[in-house]
Amino acid sequence: AKEKGRNTYSYFTNKMNKEVSRRLAIEEQIHGALERGEFEVFYQTQVDIINNIVMGAEALLRWSNPALGNISPDEFIPIAEQTGVIIPLGKFVFLQAIVATTLWKKKHLSPFRIAINLSPCQFRDPDLVSFIIDNVNQSKMSPKDIELEITEGVLLSGHDYITEALESLSKAGFSLAMDDFGTGYSSLNYLRTYPFNVLKIDRSFINDIETGTANKELVLAMIAMAHALGIEVVAEGVETEAQLNYLKSINCDYAQGYFFSKPSPVVKLLMSSPEPQCD
Ligand code: C2E
Ligand code: CA
Ligand code: CA
Ligand code: CA
Repeated sequence: AKEKGRNTYSYFTNKMNKEVSRRLAIEEQIHGALERGEFEVFYQTQVDIINNIVMGAEALLRWSNPALGNISPDEFIPIAEQTGVIIPLGKFVFLQAIVATTLWKKKHLSPFRIAINLSPCQFRDPDLVSFIIDNVNQSKMSPKDIELEITEGVLLSGHDYITEALESLSKAGFSLAMDDFGTGYSSLNYLRTYPFNVLKIDRSFINDIETGTANKELVLAMIAMAHALGIEVVAEGVETEAQLNYLKSINCDYAQGYFFSKPSPVVKLLMSSPEPQCD
């Protein structure tokens, strides 16, 4: 028993050491990574499932580092947040996304809404709202073409400056989306309190549509509730035709997922046509 205990102990210390050193390596590499041009913004299309047209895309950050390879945002975003790198990084994503959307509109002459993720930390930057408004004013885009995605994490603190920032952005005409809906604690209350225009149903609910009756009912209820509040719905992580057909049958507005396209570089986005083709 003693022997086994020691093995378990060393298993955990090894694993912890590995995690700590990976973390340290990421922290070390993330400084200067933006200046070295290691970040790129990818785009994943969002499809209007009633009219079967691409109505927009979500901007998703990618990092490729010579020493560490490709690092997933789930791994580096928290570190960018803790080190403050998220502030310049968030601005980079925003500016890139505006350029991509301008190019899309020029090429297709069709409406296009770009969805951009905002981290809770970005709201601590007192210049966030003016940065967003000024850059959109200087571009050929209108605020309604821009959807700002925030998770419950942004709202948890309940700070006045967050409420004020969201209200200013909403008044300026930006679309606000509640991301990862259904995974948090009090999302319903937030929908009532803040001026959201869009609700994104988390992938985990869509995943189980075909297997679980409970999830089917939940997704149906979320859509009905959002519509009753005048909020549009995007289903995340749609991977199969069966999922899409069910979402159509219950009046979901938009869908996003591997069934339509994986996140891809801007050139690929611009090559795609407004009528979605499956990968
Ligand atoms: P998210 O905002 O919920 O983004 C959706 C994630 O689901 C993306 O992961 C996307 O690639 C993935 N996904 C889309 N469709 C499917 C599908 O059909 N199946 C599966 N299995 N996955 C799908 P990604 O790009 O790895 O990003 C992970 C998270 O990192 C994002 O979750 C977001 O929270 C964060 N993130 C990414 N880019 C940014 C950014 O520019 N700023 C901030 N603040 N966070 C970002
Ligand atoms: Ca998102
Ligand atoms: Ca999400
Ligand atoms: Ca997520």
